[in-house]
Amino acid sequence: MMAWGQLATDDDLVRFDREARDGAQGYAWLTEATARIGHRLTGSAQGAMAEAFADSLFRVVGVPHVHQFPFEAVSWSRGMVEVRFQQGDWSIPFATVALANTPVEAEVHATIVDAGNGLRDDLERRGEAVRNKIVLMNLGLVAAPPGTANLHRSEKTALALQHGAAGVVFVNNVAGHVLLTGTASIDGTAIPIPAVCITEEDGALLRERLAQYEEPLKVFIRMRNTRSMTTAHNVVAEIPGSTRPEEVIVVGGHLDSWDLATGATDNGLGSFSILDLARCFVAADIRPERTLRFVLFMGEEQGLLGSRALVEHYAATGELAHVKCMVNMDMCGNPQGFGVGGPVEWSAWLQRACSTIRQIDSAAFAGRTTQEIWLHSDHQPFLLKGVPVMYPLSDLGRHVYGCYHSSCDDIHLVDPAAMVNNVRFIGALLLELARADDLPEHFTPEALRLRLQESGLEEPLRIGGDWPW
Ligand SMILES: [Zn+2]
Repeated sequence: MMAWGQLATDDDLVRFDREARDGAQGYAWLTEATARIGHRLTGSAQGAMAEAFADSLFRVVGVPHVHQFPFEAVSWSRGMVEVRFQQGDWSIPFATVALANTPVEAEVHATIVDAGNGLRDDLERRGEAVRNKIVLMNLGLVAAPPGTANLHRSEKTALALQHGAAGVVFVNNVAGHVLLTGTASIDGTAIPIPAVCITEEDGALLRERLAQYEEPLKVFIRMRNTRSMTTAHNVVAEIPGSTRPEEVIVVGGHLDSWDLATGATDNGLGSFSILDLARCFVAADIRPERTLRFVLFMGEEQGLLGSRALVEHYAATGELAHVKCMVNMDMCGNPQGFGVGGPVEWSAWLQRACSTIRQIDSAAFAGRTTQEIWLHSDHQPFLLKGVPVMYPLSDLGRHVYGCYHSSCDDIHLVDPAAMVNNVRFIGALLLELARADDLPEHFTPEALRLRLQESGLEEPLRIGGDWPW
């Protein structure tokens, strides 16, 4: 048995891997949470139970430091929603769900305008035709030219608002009568118009009618929801570094989920793998050289509320300068490599780390790397302050992605082996990050601006009011 304080060696990698395979607990804990707690919506009773459950698990497995980071959040919860389409004598209610952060009370009756994929060009082409109308748009990209970048539903809603829309009807581009929820607001504040989701099949029916009949197609939307201020808590656990305790590697993922199901894949996969990661470090008696900080965020789904609050706090206290890198685990399973958003030196560092990780199991871990960066998960607030971010590269399959934010996101979609491999390979990455002689630097503001621009992220960040320049 190794004493705390001993340096990480390749022996650590081997012992960690054995613990991850033989002692795996993540799937069992996730199964228990989905059965006993249900969903983990921020601000709900279940959300608070999930915070307490995670806190107790970190303590039970013996992580030395555990605390909760409280932050204020507006909690939105759904009440009723009714959507009825009318065209001449034809009038029919559709299956629907409200998107989150829609109004507490709304009643709108207006003509529908089809804005296709709901991108900037789609709305600009329709111009004034959108004003005071209800906009129909796809959540996905349908028949878009190759290379077209999609926007997040909240960005599409923001564009519709800029064009004076009275409401938004999203078509979920997933076959099989699946309804999707999620925030319609970029930063968690309330939007002034109703936004709802209908199924792909109903969207096709509406478009048929729009093409077939001259008469205007009208929509009636009525909804009631509640909003109230609550305090939510990120759950933070830490293993102090042995030789460089002031240098911190953050590994985070959101614990909260939507309320239509149990969020077993979004993001039970990531958050319960993080709990098991922490367990493995303790159980295998590994004392990392740098500090490892495990963070389970709440409020991600409402607009990255928990990670924004934590990063603001770190920026105000100077702690952010000590965070060498942030690894985000959101809907990951069986990773085949890692992406990195950081100065170019990070890419070379990551490629070397991946070849070391492959020595554990080159059949199960391909060691791919990419420098692609993306938004709308808890790494974003870190990245926008210049902190290098990493994320596992996963392919969970269409059966999982089709249930994203939907009523079918339950435990039957979770492959226990995919969670074991999360812990094995992300744990190995953390070991490499914790023991590297030198890690590259943060982004300079200028280098970050260039990278975001090259990645096509200036437009979505500007729409969201998050562009730092
Ligand atoms: Zn997620």
